[in-house]
Amino acid sequence: MGARTLQAPRGTFDVLPEDGRRRLTLLRSGTDLLSGAGYEPVETPVFEETELFARGVGEATDIVEKEMFSFEDQGGRSVTLRPEGTASVCRAYIQHGMHKRPQPVKLFYSGPFFRYEAPQAGRHRQFAQIGAEALGSDDPSLDAELILLLAELLERAGTRGVRLRLSSLGTAATRREYSVELREHLRAHERELSEDVRARIDRNPLRASDSDHPGTRAAMESAPRLLDRLAPEDAEHLQAVRALLEDAGQRYELDPRLVRGLDYYTRTVFEFDSEALGAQSALGGGGRYDALVEQLGGPPTPGVGWAAGVERILLASDLDPSAPAPDLFVALDSSDAVRAAFAIVRAARAAGIAATMEHAGRSLKGQLKHADRLGARAVVIVGADDLQVRNMRTGEQRAVAEAGEAIELVAGLGDEA
Ligand code: AMP
Repeated sequence: MGARTLQAPRGTFDVLPEDGRRRLTLLRSGTDLLSGAGYEPVETPVFEETELFARGVGEATDIVEKEMFSFEDQGGRSVTLRPEGTASVCRAYIQHGMHKRPQPVKLFYSGPFFRYEAPQAGRHRQFAQIGAEALGSDDPSLDAELILLLAELLERAGTRGVRLRLSSLGTAATRREYSVELREHLRAHERELSEDVRARIDRNPLRASDSDHPGTRAAMESAPRLLDRLAPEDAEHLQAVRALLEDAGQRYELDPRLVRGLDYYTRTVFEFDSEALGAQSALGGGGRYDALVEQLGGPPTPGVGWAAGVERILLASDLDPSAPAPDLFVALDSSDAVRAAFAIVRAARAAGIAATMEHAGRSLKGQLKHADRLGARAVVIVGADDLQVRNMRTGEQRAVAEAGEAIELVAGLGDEA
């Protein structure tokens, strides 16, 4: 019997070239967009001390309670594969004294993230995010700028059925007071609540807000709203963000149910989703986290940011970049032609011509067919002691004296196109 075939771990996937092309196109488009708005690249490790997420994301969140890939390394330290990016970016901001740079510090990142969730369409255990963060200013123009950048990213990706929901969570103090009020309300409706929400009435009553459980939803209908409890400065801040979005013609729905699943948010929260997707419809979201840097041991530093899911965006988008066609395919018409062909490919690439050559021992006819399939504009046919350049569009074929002439001719064909 043959050896057992191995598969990618549950909840993970391989990216094959067709999909890889779409991902790369999206990442390039995001990079261009964010760079153009003054955001700079940042990279942090894919694993961090577990404590960073416990302290940053919040002990009573789904992510920290159930979804972290944590393990002990050989040195006995508890480390965790990053479930999200903001805590790591704040850790790096503190560690490298970035508060000494001109503020705000505007950063973006992309890469893999890990959550131990039940896999389904659009939900994986390893997934990719693009994220952007602005630290060091609480100006509402940054909230609006970031929201509009994510809207633009989705637009450029051709994402269908995009909707934006917006809310404000106020400050931690407001939320504490509101939590007391909400806890009382939930206790009075305890029997209607989902088990999950009931178990967290004490620790995290806000989680009831976005529950889809019918009983919990009904109980929340009659609950006091956090949006109505905002301190005047926070209400004003929200008002300023809304005005800027409205000036920009950005449509949104003010949604008091929006709390997001992480503890660090203050003031603005937002989420984009797509009606083209099923149960896992969130494309990306974020908000303000004015207390997080301090909570992680840094100087008081406001911040705002978002993260968007690469797989979800692509699921909801029409993005379909075609495979890049080579300008030139170098064909072999003699068993002695390999070295000359190899040299032509190198010279062509050095001249900025996208070139590939035959590597699979096809007949000349087979090579021309293959070059056609690749979409090559020209083929150089290398014989034992002659060189031909074939224009694949017209079928016209011409003998040339040497490699340099062949390359010039191919370059000329490119100019015509
Ligand atoms: P969050 O920080 O949880 O709002 O995540 C930001 C975005 O990442 C979401 O809106 C999704 O698009 C994406 N995302 C989060 N978790 C997963 C997952 N398990 N699989 C795929 N995408 C995810």
